[in-house]
Amino acid sequence: MGLTREEFVRESGAPAQAALEVYKRFFREGPSEFPPLAPVPTKSLVTPSPEGEVTKFLLAVPPRREGEQSLETESVVIPMMRRHSTTKTLCVSSQVGCAMGCTFCETAQMGLIRSLTAAEIVRQWYAAHHILTHDIKNIVFMGMGEPLDNYDEVIQSIRVLTDHAGPSIAMGSITLSTVGRIDGLLLLREQVKQTGWKSLNLAVSINAPNDAIRDSIMPINRSMPLDELVPILETWPRRKSGAICVEYVLIPGVNASAEHAAELCERFRGVRCCVNVIPYNPRRDSPWPSPTEEEVWAFLHELESRGQFCKRRRTKGRDSMAACGQLGNEAIRKRKFVGLSVGEGS
Ligand code: SF4
Repeated sequence: MGLTREEFVRESGAPAQAALEVYKRFFREGPSEFPPLAPVPTKSLVTPSPEGEVTKFLLAVPPRREGEQSLETESVVIPMMRRHSTTKTLCVSSQVGCAMGCTFCETAQMGLIRSLTAAEIVRQWYAAHHILTHDIKNIVFMGMGEPLDNYDEVIQSIRVLTDHAGPSIAMGSITLSTVGRIDGLLLLREQVKQTGWKSLNLAVSINAPNDAIRDSIMPINRSMPLDELVPILETWPRRKSGAICVEYVLIPGVNASAEHAAELCERFRGVRCCVNVIPYNPRRDSPWPSPTEEEVWAFLHELESRGQFCKRRRTKGRDSMAACGQLGNEAIRKRKFVGLSVGEGS
């Protein structure tokens, strides 16, 4: 699942046309012809939302070598209301756990357990599409992990996901979301200049109008502050499809005042962006509550009054810990700390 069609044809050693047919059938027709390769969710939880059902599912990640734990990826299928229809977006994980330590995020509590291979990322699409039979239109790298911390495998997974003989997802329907790793963004900036990559969407998790607040909730900011990050976004290669998404998790008492909104607008004046305001979904043992409706609308209003294009992300899947910032397997987290070994069930 981690190979593009050319790589598969080359590595199979079979006649090119026959190998290509196998590749197409595998991705288009699903596992009926290849049952041993079907990724079967170990658990799936469904939560209703006004736009349809949110499905969070877990896939087993077998150990790669002796002595390694078996793990699980977490993915979420989210219904999205469009003007005339509802489409499905798949939120994929690029790592099990995450090393970035954002204080508002459930995944951060796990620490980084390991990065996923391109195949392990693509199999999340395969399971959502072929096993759970969702018609996936968009893919967002917003699940567990920092995609730019696993750059090569994430880029390879996008090559496979967009392969016309494979899943054939449009590049413009894929969004890579990062905390703003400067090193990764510099590599990605070169990648998106390549043919076929220009419409890849970029989302950057900002969550604060200044370094003092960002330092306190996102440790990455201490080594890669806004002064270095914002100029990269200001000069990000222009895409036909539009603006960079600035993600802003709204946390009462931390970053949610009218002054914060004004400061954010000032800081991002030179970035062609849309601020996506995400009401905070409390992680386990959270020190903060979620914002009230009034707080969310007041913040949006302040952005809008200053001419900043913005939108609100509606919260879906909060009850099943499937909402934004809530992914993270508690059992795996505990297992890591108590040091259980391979073979013990989760
Ligand atoms: S918000 Fe994203 S980058 Fe930050 S800890 Fe959570 S998964 Fe990692």
